[in-house]
Amino acid sequence: MLHCVPLRPFWDKTQVMNITPDLKQLLQIPRNVAIFSHRNPDGDAIGSSLAMRHYLEQYGHTVHVLFPSEFPEEFEVLPGSEDILIWDIHTEESKQLLPHKNLFIFLDFNALNRIDRMGEYIASLPANRILIDHHLYPDSIAEHAFSEPEASSTCEMVYRFIVAMGDVLKINPIVGKCIYTGIVTDTGSFRHATNATVFRIVADLVERGLDDTGVQDMIFNSNKEKHLRLLGHCLSQRMEYYPEYRTALIWLSKKDYETFDIQRGDTEGIVNYLLSMKDVRLAAFIHNQPTVVKLSLRSKGDLDVQEICKKHFNGGGHKNASGAYTFDSLRSTIEKFKALLPLYEEALTKS
Ligand code: 5GP
Ligand code: MN
Repeated sequence: MLHCVPLRPFWDKTQVMNITPDLKQLLQIPRNVAIFSHRNPDGDAIGSSLAMRHYLEQYGHTVHVLFPSEFPEEFEVLPGSEDILIWDIHTEESKQLLPHKNLFIFLDFNALNRIDRMGEYIASLPANRILIDHHLYPDSIAEHAFSEPEASSTCEMVYRFIVAMGDVLKINPIVGKCIYTGIVTDTGSFRHATNATVFRIVADLVERGLDDTGVQDMIFNSNKEKHLRLLGHCLSQRMEYYPEYRTALIWLSKKDYETFDIQRGDTEGIVNYLLSMKDVRLAAFIHNQPTVVKLSLRSKGDLDVQEICKKHFNGGGHKNASGAYTFDSLRSTIEKFKALLPLYEEALTKS
């Protein structure tokens, strides 16, 4: 026999964000707001920024979203993405705009160097600052800081922020779509970094009208032929496997960038294919972007790639997903990475 459980709010079971009276007051008067997120913006950066924008506009705030660099094409269908200012492209316009802003919101990053030159430019501007982020080891860059490395995504935190503000009714289908985008991308479609709260939030978004399969279709079924050709090339020509260290690597050269006409975002997700090998614990994607060599590391289980990126490559991120840049050559970066494996042999090979 089926028992009917009455519907009731669930956020009493989730970690409640502490909105101070100061912060509440700050947001209740219309402000001139700039929302920032990190270089190479991913679904969580874009989703959280646009969700926050569409939420705040319901209060009458004037809001601009700014990223240091361009975002992948598949997110262009998110409402408001067409207004995002890209510092690399709209430098002058951004420089004119930012001194007039009186509230900065930092989403999905926790150190000003993650927003490159824009970080230097805004460092001494007088606006109030709010940070909402889930990366490890935040810098003190905001007087109102919500830093939760345990959270699945910044989008999860934005949802909980809106709820803590007492504004769950402002989570309309547009805000919901943006929030869901970041949750799906940062959890790899609910394969990692999940928690009970995430599923509760998503259930709530669906009840509020979210077309969840439509969003997944937008993100994951948007490949062009060249993406599949590039993936094939990576797996057949550029993959190296070191079973003794349970590590796999894919690298791409500058020439590959030209041959496959690789644009920003085109390589997103390639590293995850390595993790799909049963025995692999550590996956690396090392590629020669036009100006830097970029590393993306992913791990399964206890192996902390954040530590590897921070200690050896001056990067950072999360325990199981981190990145870094170097100005060394591709070859020497790959060699440096391979030379590190014996140092982590114990962690890599245990069960
Ligand atoms: P990805 O490898 O996809 O670029 O990034 C994986 C994670 O590491 C993301 O959370 C991203 O924000 C973070 N990350 C990537 N590159 C860097 C970096 O150079 N420095 C820091 N601190 N974090 C990074
Ligand atoms: Mn994130």
